[in-house]
Amino acid sequence: MAGSLNKKLGVLGGGQLGRMMCLAVANMDIAIDILDKDHQFPAGQFANRFVEGDFKNYDDVYKFGKTVDVLTIEIEHVNSEALHQLKAEGIIVHPDPSTLDIIKDKGLQKQFYEAKGLPTSPFVIYDDFIELKKAIQSNEVMTPFVQKARTAGYDGKGVAVIKSAKDYHKLLQVPSIIEPLVAIEKELAVIVSRNESGEIAVFPTVEMEFLEDANLVNTLICPARLEGNLNRYLTNMAKEIMIAYNVCGMLAIEFFLTKSGEILINEVAPRTHNSGHHTIESSLTSQFEQHVRSVLNLPLGSTKMRSPSVMINLLGAPKYSGPVIYQGLEKCMQLEGVYFHLYGKKETRPFRKMGHATIINNNLETAMQNANFIKENFKIISNQSV
Ligand code: ADP
Repeated sequence: MAGSLNKKLGVLGGGQLGRMMCLAVANMDIAIDILDKDHQFPAGQFANRFVEGDFKNYDDVYKFGKTVDVLTIEIEHVNSEALHQLKAEGIIVHPDPSTLDIIKDKGLQKQFYEAKGLPTSPFVIYDDFIELKKAIQSNEVMTPFVQKARTAGYDGKGVAVIKSAKDYHKLLQVPSIIEPLVAIEKELAVIVSRNESGEIAVFPTVEMEFLEDANLVNTLICPARLEGNLNRYLTNMAKEIMIAYNVCGMLAIEFFLTKSGEILINEVAPRTHNSGHHTIESSLTSQFEQHVRSVLNLPLGSTKMRSPSVMINLLGAPKYSGPVIYQGLEKCMQLEGVYFHLYGKKETRPFRKMGHATIINNNLETAMQNANFIKENFKIISNQSV
């Protein structure tokens, strides 16, 4: 079944992003096939066809890719050799496998910005941990600094913030990049999409607050509270980055606004992103529908805001690990303009992303208050502890 467009769309990854992509286009009768390990994963219920397999495995990706017309991703860490081969055999692959190869390696990503003259913090690549240790001993690398694994990191898992020698035990023994610790005023994100016809659409800038220690987005605020013409500057820069990468689909760009007022690119993801979840309710087109529109070369939807919004991630409470129990849901559902998205994960773990909630309100302050009410009253626990 190919749905309304007579084109088969395949997605590598069946987590919450894949699930929300399936849901976003179900009304348009666009069918999505998904490849991931277990049909019990979040997208399992909503995929047109869920193929069990490993998106890191060449054969699994190749075989799956041969059954669709257009192939895209919900996660970067997929087998890219298979994507190159599929592209060579005529399957449309978005993002382009060569672009994906750059983006999924933080070292290559940083070198890309350097080569294109795009603003990012200085960095040094250390492929050998012994070399990094020597550089630290000889004060070539001095605290405070941030170490990032070149590949396979996500949600802060490949990031070590080394404030002083006391943090050396956190050093990652993998090929990595070292950056100075930036004095961050605000973390911002812009999502931008592009289709093959070259149409580009940019969503309004969002502001992100992170959970200390876990490096996970805690609260997202849209529109970002920015002075002067910073939003316009970021919108133009997002277009420039999109054109430099030549991506079709979605590109989520994370920026740092530094205490001295500089804008630095932190990193990008060539897919739908946590910083765009609010668009489901707060924008005329959601990021998930936009991604599908762009990879299928359909006209892009309007990115105009319907309403200011706050998005909070709903994470597994610390100390609980086991079958999930949602506590306080009914109380929080009584608030006006609150939309819960629970991803259907059967098991909770400390800080596991189990869902999110978007709160819309014409008054951003009221939306913030309602978000705080949910943070205090909604808990994801289990009757089993860690
Ligand atoms: P991930 O790919 O896991 O999301 P990021 O590169 O986005 O990793 O880093 C996660 C978080 O760590 C950032 O959102 C930011 O809060 C913090 N961080 C990353 N790099 C720096 C830096 N150079 N200076 C200060 N904080 C940083």
